[in-house]
Amino acid sequence: MHFNELNLSKELIQAVDELGFTEMTEIQQQSIPTLLEGNDVIGRSNTGTGKTAAFGIPAVESITENDRNHVSVLILCPTRELAMQAHEEIRKFAKYKKIVKAVSVYGGASMEKQIHELKRGANIVIGTPGRVMDHMRRKTLKLNNLRCVILDEADEMLNMGFREDIESILSEVPEERQTVLFSATMPPAILAITEKYQKNPVHIKIKSAQKTVELIEQYYFEVAMGRKTDALKLLLSAYSPSSSMVFCNTKKMVDDLTEELVKSGFRVSGIHGDMKQSQRTQVMNGFKNKSTEILVATDVAARGIDVTGVDAVFNYDLPQDNEYYIHRIGRTGRAGRTGTAYTLISGRKQFYELREIEKYTKANIQEKSLPTKSEIVEMKKDNIVSEISKIDNVSYEAYSILEKLAEMGIDYRETAVRMIAEKLGAEIDSLPEFEQSRPLRKGRKGTKTVKVDINIGRNKRIAPNFILGALVDATGMSGRDFGKIDIFDTHTTVEVPEAETEYIIDSTNPMKINGNQVEVKLYTGAVKEVRGKRPENKPKFDRKKRAYGNRKKADIYNDYIPDRKKRIKNKH
Ligand code: ADP
Ligand code: MG
Repeated sequence: MHFNELNLSKELIQAVDELGFTEMTEIQQQSIPTLLEGNDVIGRSNTGTGKTAAFGIPAVESITENDRNHVSVLILCPTRELAMQAHEEIRKFAKYKKIVKAVSVYGGASMEKQIHELKRGANIVIGTPGRVMDHMRRKTLKLNNLRCVILDEADEMLNMGFREDIESILSEVPEERQTVLFSATMPPAILAITEKYQKNPVHIKIKSAQKTVELIEQYYFEVAMGRKTDALKLLLSAYSPSSSMVFCNTKKMVDDLTEELVKSGFRVSGIHGDMKQSQRTQVMNGFKNKSTEILVATDVAARGIDVTGVDAVFNYDLPQDNEYYIHRIGRTGRAGRTGTAYTLISGRKQFYELREIEKYTKANIQEKSLPTKSEIVEMKKDNIVSEISKIDNVSYEAYSILEKLAEMGIDYRETAVRMIAEKLGAEIDSLPEFEQSRPLRKGRKGTKTVKVDINIGRNKRIAPNFILGALVDATGMSGRDFGKIDIFDTHTTVEVPEAETEYIIDSTNPMKINGNQVEVKLYTGAVKEVRGKRPENKPKFDRKKRAYGNRKKADIYNDYIPDRKKRIKNKH
């Protein structure tokens, strides 16, 4: 459905047109008309589906001359960035509707500026719950004429602890109003809010592509460096999927891995962009008609491949893009069937990359440990025993074949062994031995921390965000994994999870911060301030001022005697 099929004013149609929007997204199609009618709405749809326009267009459309002197629409967003983003988009919708005055209010920005803007006659306010409350308390935001409240990313707002603020806002605005709520998930706390504050809401739920991903069980295995191929062989043998895809990031890896698997007796083919079209077609046909059980592919070669009945997807390499992960695992679990996705990771860095993917896809990727060779062999033996013991329609012809073989000198026992070996599969013999790898993961919250020391400090005009940025960049960990950063004159200490220390030190040597090569070490408290060359342009320091001017005395002591506090504590 096209935007101009809606009964929108020509000002809005023109603005939307200029944004390059033509077709409405599903959530827009379903929510804009009912929102224009003034109904309460509960909307569920994934990120990137255009929810801002879904509520923003009706909000802008609803503003008339009557709204000139008061706030009529309030939009609550979980973060400052989202508030700014929504504000930006609403401003674009209102480009030709001069009557609309949208103002955003959020923490960490000047209160005075916001007050000034609110005073100049805002009729749409976009803000974070905390700052909105703040303005309400100061009476710089008056909501007594409000007729519409929109909660964007409601679940995220609750996660962030805004429940009380949201409830006070909702209970303080006029009862006669429209209440709109958008959320990616609907936990009970959200339902409680909708029940308490909405009137006969229209429920809109958009099933998206990501939904099918939920049908896919997702696991990961931590594998020692250099042993991914062995791990993959074990997994293919253990689960023996009748049809599976293995994803690699490079063409060379596809070739090497395919060759390895062929050697081990798997029915496998590889596909990538350097192959001739005729070759690719052949490979694809083999995979489609199930004569090839395993297809090893690059992301690009696999694009557009639509094969049903793929039982399992293996991520041999972690995808280079979060979206790829969804595309890859979406190869299984098609057409409402369930499927399984297995991801192999080696080392901390990949562990953190996987965590990012998990966050991005909102998936639950569970850790699993590799089966051992002997477990797999036992499993296969049990299967064969049960399979053979269940056979009950033995034909006369089978006996006659046995007789023939016996005449050739192959007795019954030898025949049976040969047939069982065939069933057991060639890959069994070549299965690698795997000692159980030590799980890498340690607890997250409440973990024991230590400090690392970086030999750069205030003398190089370093700010905490430089340090954090460099660390996040080098380790692939998230900013939240790092604790307190203390910058001293010639060095900096950073609190890190103890379990990650070795990894952090490994992956940060070498590392550059602001163009300076630095060294990261475990902080033992023995770091001495090095009197280096004075940085350029810096005035000669006044020794007194340096010692007592900018920094608190206690800090300086702690700098030299880091566990002073601890020692004091231990005295008691
Ligand atoms: P959500 O809030 O659901 O995560 P957004 O509202 O941020 O999604 O929209 C995602 C992107 O899609 C934005 O860049 C937006 O401008 C764009 N967009 C929204 N609706 C349409 C549409 N109908 N046609 C084209 N692009 C759109
Ligand atoms: Mg959004």
